[in-house]
Amino acid sequence: MKRCSKCILPESYPDISFDADGVCNYCKTYENMKYKGEKALQEIISKYGKGKGDYDCLVGISGGRDSAYALYYLVKVKKLRVLAYTADSGFVPEIAVENMKKMVDILQVDLVYEKHKFLKKTFKNNVLSWLRKPSPAMILMVCSGCRLGMFRGLLKVAKKNNVPLIFLGGGTRIEVCDFKKTLLTTNPFGRLKIVRKSLPLSMLFGLIYEVLRNPFYFLNPVNAMIYFREYFYFFQRDRLMKWFYPNQKMIGLYEYIEWDENLILSTIKKEINWMQDVESGSSWRFDCKVSFLKNYMLKESLGFTEKDENLSKMIREGLLTRQEAMGRLEKENIVPDKAISEICNEANLSPADLDEAIAKLKPIG
Ligand SMILES: [Zn+2]
Repeated sequence: MKRCSKCILPESYPDISFDADGVCNYCKTYENMKYKGEKALQEIISKYGKGKGDYDCLVGISGGRDSAYALYYLVKVKKLRVLAYTADSGFVPEIAVENMKKMVDILQVDLVYEKHKFLKKTFKNNVLSWLRKPSPAMILMVCSGCRLGMFRGLLKVAKKNNVPLIFLGGGTRIEVCDFKKTLLTTNPFGRLKIVRKSLPLSMLFGLIYEVLRNPFYFLNPVNAMIYFREYFYFFQRDRLMKWFYPNQKMIGLYEYIEWDENLILSTIKKEINWMQDVESGSSWRFDCKVSFLKNYMLKESLGFTEKDENLSKMIREGLLTRQEAMGRLEKENIVPDKAISEICNEANLSPADLDEAIAKLKPIG
């Protein structure tokens, strides 16, 4: 498969084109990450943190590496009184739970551990709907409900405990996958000027387009409600917070401090005994079993996964060489068979049914 000569995006990536030197359009328009810096972070902490209640801030953790470091950083470097929060979707691997227990124990932090059913409720219907009419854009829907659980939980717990400042411990720009947006917004609605102008609107219309093509997604009213609420919590969060949580401020820690993978991994392994999943070959996103399924579906039907994009961004940021990224890609794109059969079990389907549906989608390009 042809790949960009600068990053590692493959020719099957949506809307990709290459120049005479084999460099892709995404490399050419990429803008490097800019951090707001420690000073700006300190200003926010001084303004909102140092809470009057028992805690200065709330941080969402998942058992994964970035949020583990965020927790460590806020407790040990910033010396804040931190309350940790996790929203367990029911698909959290044991090793991630172990990691969370260890880190709050070592750092002596209180943890609010909540279970939510949003992902469990939508998962089976989403996977089965997808199998009826496979669509690349809707691979991403297998995760729906997860973000709703997390954002809703964080806001509720912050309000209840009178904590003004909420930190998100993940979601650096390197982790944000632009192809999701491209897949969901490439449809007849996307050509309308008014829709194209706003990302939330183009995502909403992308979803409407997909659901009109395959109404099975919406046959269950519980699911429809969860999609709607998640959309609101994710894309209209500023508005929602203004209306319902005016005393809370939510920020992403890695908008302020540099995301340094080596520093993050070495620190959390040494300081809070963080462990990596030995089976997945990647320290990225192993905190949810559904993400294995999502990556398997992406790899088999589109020929790439989130990792292709994550590693490409790391190359553009100067954090990896192209050769290093290629080496890592091979290892990190391995999805353990065990994880797939386990997750298929959840939806009462056999991995063969899944493969049959995937085969209906030819790789793009
Ligand atoms: Zn490129």
